[in-house]
Amino acid sequence: MDIVLASANAGKLREFQQMLEGFNLAVVPQSELAIESAAETGLTFVENALIKARHATSIAKRPAIADDSGLEVDYLQGAPGIYSSRFAGDHATDKDNNHCLLQRLEGVAMAERTARYHTVIVYMRHALDPTPLICQAQWEGRIALQPLGDGGFGYDPLFIVDADGRRASELSATVKNRISHRGQAMKQLLDALGNTHLGAIQSS
Ligand code: IMP
Repeated sequence: MDIVLASANAGKLREFQQMLEGFNLAVVPQSELAIESAAETGLTFVENALIKARHATSIAKRPAIADDSGLEVDYLQGAPGIYSSRFAGDHATDKDNNHCLLQRLEGVAMAERTARYHTVIVYMRHALDPTPLICQAQWEGRIALQPLGDGGFGYDPLFIVDADGRRASELSATVKNRISHRGQAMKQLLDALGNTHLGAIQSS
């Protein structure tokens, strides 16, 4: 089955493609269909994921998967949240955003640097789908004092995932995809697709 992946983020696309390997799903990034990114005008991860999926499926005329995700830092009352990709401004790079985060947390003790990645993944069969699948997951961690590691993307060089101070950027792709917010939400989605939507399509 052909599905359009409604993301232009290279790091996310890489992870989605790794996670979908071995499943009988042909997933095409929206850029390959010349679909531009939708404006993220929602105020929640759920709204933005629905906007992205609806935009992609309405143009591609095939089901869409979209994810909206971000980092919630407790000391910053949940910021950058849905604005994670543009924390340091429109067109900010990952490096700019990491720098901005470190500045906002300057002088903050380790115990107060708790944070989590949050993701919402949506599967929409068509633009008028009244029952899109919505899967959510979180990944708890802490924000380091300086970046380390070169794997992953986004805030991974600052995101401490265990008691040894290991960053998400130091994990192999396989390990990150197994335990991350995106990996957990994707597992829920694949389970749901197997049990419902794909089953319904195959038996019709
Ligand atoms: P979105 O593309 O609007 O959903 O923005 C997602 C942003 O959240 C990314 O650009 C990153 O800054 C951050 N983010 C989400 N998931 C991850 C992750 O797995 N690692 C690092 N940063 C992430």
